[in-house]
Amino acid sequence: MPRLFGTFGVRGVANVELTPELAYRLGLALATHLGNGGEVAVGRDNRTSSEMLEQAVISGLTSGGCRVLRLGLVPTPVLSFGVRHFRCSAGVMITASHNPPEYNGVKFWEEDGSGFSREREGEIEKLLEEGRLRKVGWREIGRVEEADALEPYREEVLKRVRPPERKLKVVVDCGNAMGSLVVPGLLSELGMQVISLNDYLDGTYPSRKLEPLPENLTLLSRTVASTGADLGIALDGDADRSVVADERGRVLMGDRVFALVARHYLRGRRRPRIITPVATSSVIDDVARELGGEVVRTRVGEPEIVGEFKRNGGDLGGEENGGVMFFDWSRCREGILTSLKFVEALAESGKSTSEFDATLPLYFQVKERVPCPNELKERVLRRLEEEFSSYHLDRTDGLKIQTGDGWLLLRPSGTEPIFRCFAEARTENRARELAELGLRKLREAMG
Ligand code: MG
Repeated sequence: MPRLFGTFGVRGVANVELTPELAYRLGLALATHLGNGGEVAVGRDNRTSSEMLEQAVISGLTSGGCRVLRLGLVPTPVLSFGVRHFRCSAGVMITASHNPPEYNGVKFWEEDGSGFSREREGEIEKLLEEGRLRKVGWREIGRVEEADALEPYREEVLKRVRPPERKLKVVVDCGNAMGSLVVPGLLSELGMQVISLNDYLDGTYPSRKLEPLPENLTLLSRTVASTGADLGIALDGDADRSVVADERGRVLMGDRVFALVARHYLRGRRRPRIITPVATSSVIDDVARELGGEVVRTRVGEPEIVGEFKRNGGDLGGEENGGVMFFDWSRCREGILTSLKFVEALAESGKSTSEFDATLPLYFQVKERVPCPNELKERVLRRLEEEFSSYHLDRTDGLKIQTGDGWLLLRPSGTEPIFRCFAEARTENRARELAELGLRKLREAMG
């Protein structure tokens, strides 16, 4: 039986996999897990199914004796902020992030504003499997209150940004999703000239796919180039990730945005500690060296980064897909603050976006995927280990092969029946060569 909780929360097609019945049971399970009391902040994105699922989750929570603080439509970083700001004992966010509009998801949050740990997700799952869900008596049924987290969030996040003297022209594409509620407005407040694309909320997401990949951002790229803007910014559906396009419309990979923001944000800190998964570009190692800090590599996934932070501390976390975590501000990926910090850094640099990007060493990456049945993954991985035994190997997540002039990462996906094959080198040819070596060895190991 597949686990209910995926890489982050419960995800599925609304009304098919993720039904109101399941959402209700999830709410009641959370209430049971919390000891049938306390206050829970609930937020949602603007999908067509989000209000229905929100109501179901709230029914579950209140019938289990929790009070509910309904935050309404909010980006995920604002829900995480709201849990701390209103001193709730937990949070629930209804969103499927970058997934297509027919999907939705339920994500639980701890009282410190981080996503539920794998252990706590396991406990919720166990309660559901064993049917040990506890409703309270009529006197103890929880009440629902409305609260606004957006305004205090805006105030707090602006305190963390220096309004730049240089005024930039910025094109923002929020994809008709949650970023629209905050990002264009905050950029205007910082004095930027903002051109806002797809900034009305529409839960059918008619304008573009929500995953901020270059192929989904052609309108942003064209608009930046044709309006003579300094940069473009795109967010995913729930605004916990953001990417940047340079003045020519070329989309920068998420790990370069992460590295540029890291260098800017951590400058002057004593031995900063940067936490990132094995899949992130080596460019972050270059930045850490420059800062006199260190990079700690984890398995892939936000909970892995947060887990490492909670165990051993850290300054900044980040992923190759554009999710950056500022640990002195929050415990969740912050697409909004990342956007603002990038603008601040760029403005202070006095450079164009492409020049600013060129202050980092150049790396080329190739990212491929190969179908592989889940039951074969372990055996394939063992064979690959033997195959590459003469190299320096990192077994943190899958197999990372250091070749001296680059690296190759062969990693079984935790959620799909595929192997991911990432290669990175200083030239495009070498990256391609490494990726092809990886693909060949993967196919041999499966055959
Ligand atoms: Mg997201």
